[in-house]
Amino acid sequence: MSTLFISDLHLSPCRPEITDCFLTFLEDSADRAEALYILGDLFEAWIGDDAADPEQHAVVAALKRFTATGLPCYFTHGNRDFLIGKRFSIDSGVQLLDETTVIELHGERVLLLHGDTLCTDDRRYQRFRRIVRNPWLHALYFAIPIAARRAIVSRIRKSSATEMALKPEQITDVNQHAVAATMRRFGVKKLVHGHTHRPAVHQFTLDQQPACRIVLGDWYTQGSFLECGPDGFKLQSLPLRDNSA
Ligand code: MN
Repeated sequence: MSTLFISDLHLSPCRPEITDCFLTFLEDSADRAEALYILGDLFEAWIGDDAADPEQHAVVAALKRFTATGLPCYFTHGNRDFLIGKRFSIDSGVQLLDETTVIELHGERVLLLHGDTLCTDDRRYQRFRRIVRNPWLHALYFAIPIAARRAIVSRIRKSSATEMALKPEQITDVNQHAVAATMRRFGVKKLVHGHTHRPAVHQFTLDQQPACRIVLGDWYTQGSFLECGPDGFKLQSLPLRDNSA
């Protein structure tokens, strides 16, 4: 039995093959997983729990089937779906985690987070993040009609896509000082996160001890997950089903 970690699926009606891949992954995982952790950006965009589109409803229903088998599923907000709330949690059976969570896995403390907070070189993004995570702003946002919210989110998405394309690579990756400081703060030597879409296992030394940062992969051209069993951590990919045949 193993614990599974995923992030950055960016589920969207534009990429039905990814949603298919995820639904199959959920069905297959139900037999062999002990728990599933979704570390943010499950959806490309989330307007609000009261504004899910039919595809998002289908995903919520699939998560409900997964959790109804008794398997725990946990979710940490990403920068795309940070408006996921209690209603989603009730409908899906998925438990919402704090921004940072430490779990114990095979006797080891492991820190879980989405990863955007580690990209401290991207100062513009960090400023933007502080604004959009303000609870007062959320209250205002949820007071306006769904169509207007959809328009706001789509505008932000467009301008952020343009901006991301112009940013140098290293700015959008994690800052190693931020990684070390965060791991020290939580007293861990292992960290699992997503967000950067640069799947890898980084081994390094932290305070004279071996440390490890595992980055989850995105779901654009394949499915991607991290499996942690008795033999340790392993990054794996899933092929997309070929619908052209
Ligand atoms: Mn992200």
